[in-house]
Amino acid sequence: MSTSSGARSGLVVSAHSADFIWRAGGAIALYAKRGWKVKVVCLSFGERGESQKLWKDPAMTLDRVKTERRAEAERAGSILGVADMEFFDLGDYPLRTGLDALERLADIYQSMRPEWVLTHSLEDPYNFDHPEATRFAQEARVVAQAHGRKGAASAIGAPPVFLFEPHQPEQCNWKPQVILDISEVWETKRKAFEAMDAQEHLWDYYTRVALQRGVQGARNSERKMKYGEGYQRVFPLVTEHLV
Ligand SMILES: [Zn+2]
Repeated sequence: MSTSSGARSGLVVSAHSADFIWRAGGAIALYAKRGWKVKVVCLSFGERGESQKLWKDPAMTLDRVKTERRAEAERAGSILGVADMEFFDLGDYPLRTGLDALERLADIYQSMRPEWVLTHSLEDPYNFDHPEATRFAQEARVVAQAHGRKGAASAIGAPPVFLFEPHQPEQCNWKPQVILDISEVWETKRKAFEAMDAQEHLWDYYTRVALQRGVQGARNSERKMKYGEGYQRVFPLVTEHLV
């Protein structure tokens, strides 16, 4: 990755190779369209737990699943306008992050200096990899803030963290505190869904989620919006303007 272009940047930390598409594809496409450099870190390919369709082939192997999931994620990422995608290949079900991966992600924070971070919900009783990715993304962010790590000049500030909408929000104690209007990039997000052959069962589901958040976004604002993407915040909004 590089920040040589001087573009503003955002970082997405995804437990499995497709999570960022369903949950943050709108934000990625919107910011890419605005000229931001969006980097996606996929901690695993979702090879064991989120590739059901591929495993219907009895001759399937773990390596082939990883290769196919990677290709799909890259295809979807290029549709969304992702500038850079990195795969940590830490394994899924269970996802386990260690010290090397933590330092690697902290290096990414320090070199790209993202202005926002998107990752999973804090809880998910259906999926332990998702909150593990969140804990890891947050810990690396804090490590990258340490002045003693690589000198004060390398330490990052405090990019706000936004949590993706999980599959079953109520069970995850997740509430939409931010509804991003993604209407202008909806077609792009939907096209990225269609790159994910292994999870075709989710295309319509996540279209309904976007419509639902769109209605709620319009109800909570003066906007005429059709499609929305919900996020929960971790830290307070720091601002001098209430509206
Ligand atoms: Zn996932």
